[in-house]
Amino acid sequence: MTRSEEIMALTDRYGAHNYKPLPVVIDKAEGIWVWDCEGNKYLDFLSCYSALNHGHRHPAIVAALKAQADKVTVTSRAFHNTELGPFSAELCRLCGPGMEMVLPMNSGAEAVETALKAARKWGYQKKGIPAGRAEIIACADNFHGRTISIVSFSTEPDYRADFGPYTPGFETIPYGDAAALDRAITPNTAAFLVEPIQGEAGVRVPPRGFLAAARALCTERNVLFMADEIQTGLGRTGKLFACDHEGVRPDVYILGKALGGGVYPVSAVVASESVLGVFKPGEHGSTFGGNPLGAAVARVAMKVLVEERLAERAAELGDYFMSRLRRIPSKHVKEVRGRGLLIGVELHPEAGGARRFCEALQAEGLLCKETHTHVIRFAPPLVIGKDDIDWALERIARVLSR
Ligand SMILES: *Cc1c(COP(=O)(O)O)cnc(C)c1O
Repeated sequence: MTRSEEIMALTDRYGAHNYKPLPVVIDKAEGIWVWDCEGNKYLDFLSCYSALNHGHRHPAIVAALKAQADKVTVTSRAFHNTELGPFSAELCRLCGPGMEMVLPMNSGAEAVETALKAARKWGYQKKGIPAGRAEIIACADNFHGRTISIVSFSTEPDYRADFGPYTPGFETIPYGDAAALDRAITPNTAAFLVEPIQGEAGVRVPPRGFLAAARALCTERNVLFMADEIQTGLGRTGKLFACDHEGVRPDVYILGKALGGGVYPVSAVVASESVLGVFKPGEHGSTFGGNPLGAAVARVAMKVLVEERLAERAAELGDYFMSRLRRIPSKHVKEVRGRGLLIGVELHPEAGGARRFCEALQAEGLLCKETHTHVIRFAPPLVIGKDDIDWALERIARVLSR
């Protein structure tokens, strides 16, 4: 047995089988590249579902991690630390006008839960919804995380089955259907929760005008527009936020993944004082949320994002990559879609599923992952260069034209 095989056997034997990883054991990484235990080198075309927008082990981010680790790492929120205030101010400034407060958490699901709690409390205290009646509208085929409440409004049987009883108070509408949103809003609706592009559902881009129409409806009916930008935000789609493609300003941004610069879990809810101001001491929290190590890392992650123009890079390289992908002659490909460097290649059902193409790409030195059976997601780190895209295209063309 190779070392990789030994490790996969151990992981499989002692780890719960809630994932089905490709058969590769990553031993080290740098930038856009990873190496397995036998020294084989691969281009990372998944980027930890966009947590690695800055690439692996970005030097400035790792330096911040090390420097902070030598000072103080966790404090709890029972005390102040030097990083949380500056982090919150810088994140509000990054998110733009109207974004006045931050509530830091760790994982994406926790940030979504935080937004749901904020929306309900806002609904009762600010909108005047009768006690216990607040409703939140989400979209079919959503992915917002794995907690009981979040899977309660999932429409994906794998995410939901046998995890009930479910949390009430949620409705779903078809993704991209503003008329359905209009019909679903009642006087008790507190919020509309939406991914501006549905990543996990197979990189689904909504029809043009949907986000703007939803924004207008939410404004008109006094409903919070909450954008889950955990995967799409922070440059991935070629703008700072995917909502920017339609000039939409949400009431609430939900961020995670790349906020931690690819080295540490950091998530956050960002909103106005009128929304996040509903929380009083003791009503919500997290032991690790807002710790100085995570906050120091996130501060540098935001700085790098701006200084290295990662969103602009994603826009330029994404356009180039997508146009070249569309030119690949392949009987398997049904559609190439996406924005920036969040790209989905949907295969015809006759192609036999995306998994075997991902395995073939692994053999070519490219790591990517199928999403929802028939879609290959291409989402390299945003620090990738054009030459590396060309290197990848050569291999993708070889695999897709077989
Ligand atoms: C990844 C993701 C989440 C959940 O984040 P975790 O850190 O895995 O809890 C929520 N929403 C979207 C859109 C995501 O892509």
